[in-house]
Amino acid sequence: MSNLDNLYREIIMEHYKNPRNKGLIDDANYQSVRIKNPSCGDDITMQTLIIDGIIKDCRQVATGCSISVASASVLSEIMIGKKIEDALKLADNFLNMVSNKDYDETVDLEEAMVFNGVKQFPARIKCASIAWVAFKDTLNKE
Ligand code: ZN
Repeated sequence: MSNLDNLYREIIMEHYKNPRNKGLIDDANYQSVRIKNPSCGDDITMQTLIIDGIIKDCRQVATGCSISVASASVLSEIMIGKKIEDALKLADNFLNMVSNKDYDETVDLEEAMVFNGVKQFPARIKCASIAWVAFKDTLNKE
């Protein structure tokens, strides 16, 4: 295993142990979407607050495997402050990357690059993806 793989694994475990932006906000201005992945017990809820086309807040509650929980945490951290269009572009690129499809390498995936190795493990693609699919769905509810 390369040093980069080790570093990525450490970052994923750190997010798993200390998830960022955890806990939902009871406010009708937030859009929430919950998605479950029965194959490994992942249960993810993503929440966004959009004001003037900007993601002002992103909250998450995730239980399940380390990949799914860390993915929700990394996503929440990256997306706060982004314009909706930039957030969607980033999310689509991330989903293509972990699914081993072509993606635009000029789009900066920021810390979400740590999930680059997931494509080697087809069973884990859904784990890495569900937070991002739920996140996109919250934007579609706007
Ligand atoms: Zn999982």
